[in-house]
Amino acid sequence: MELTLPRQGLMLALSSPSGAGKSTIARALLERDPHITMSVSCTTRPPRLGEMDGRDYHFIGIDLFLEMMEGGQFLEHARVFDNFYGTPRGPVGDTLASGRDVLLDIDWQGTQQLCLNVRADLVTVFILPPSMEELEQRLRTRAQDGDEMDHWFEYDYILLNTEVERSVTRVQAILDSERLKRDRQIGMAAFVNRLRGR
Ligand code: 5GP
Repeated sequence: MELTLPRQGLMLALSSPSGAGKSTIARALLERDPHITMSVSCTTRPPRLGEMDGRDYHFIGIDLFLEMMEGGQFLEHARVFDNFYGTPRGPVGDTLASGRDVLLDIDWQGTQQLCLNVRADLVTVFILPPSMEELEQRLRTRAQDGDEMDHWFEYDYILLNTEVERSVTRVQAILDSERLKRDRQIGMAAFVNRLRGR
């Protein structure tokens, strides 16, 4: 029988150069693990083919983005290429408070802001491609981002994505271990007291 104690949720931030397989890994993790949900970011970029408003992003205009930014409604925000991206604060806070975890697909700038502001609840993972050839091949149809790779050393965990299945298993292992950290097991003290009949 599984015994579930109250726990403080965590934020799992995944970053990588585009084309390294981050979204595939994120999708597989979300399918496999019922205790983590994706944070839906706001962006000023237009939707791509197949993207759905409210599921992939909240596609909003620049005016609303700036208004939200000034109103402190983003947990972090950044300009990536020519567009703005931000993580809405409210939904993340609600999820963490309910003892569930949040998956964030954000760039290095956003990760740096979270490191400064919410370090205790944050776990960061950087995904690298196994070779530049592989990355370049995948990038042929995607936007280039040279900067991202320079920041790998700022992350807690570094993953070489040689094989998607193995990478998903590893991210799951990171998540499982981080959930077991004492500080996140906020129901443990009461449990131990009950265990000892106090
Ligand atoms: P794309 O436009 O290809 O969906 O995303 C471009 C980049 O923006 C990716 O590296 C992605 O991780 C990042 N990104 C997406 N949403 C956010 C966000 O809310 N905050 C930050 N800082 N980066 C984001």
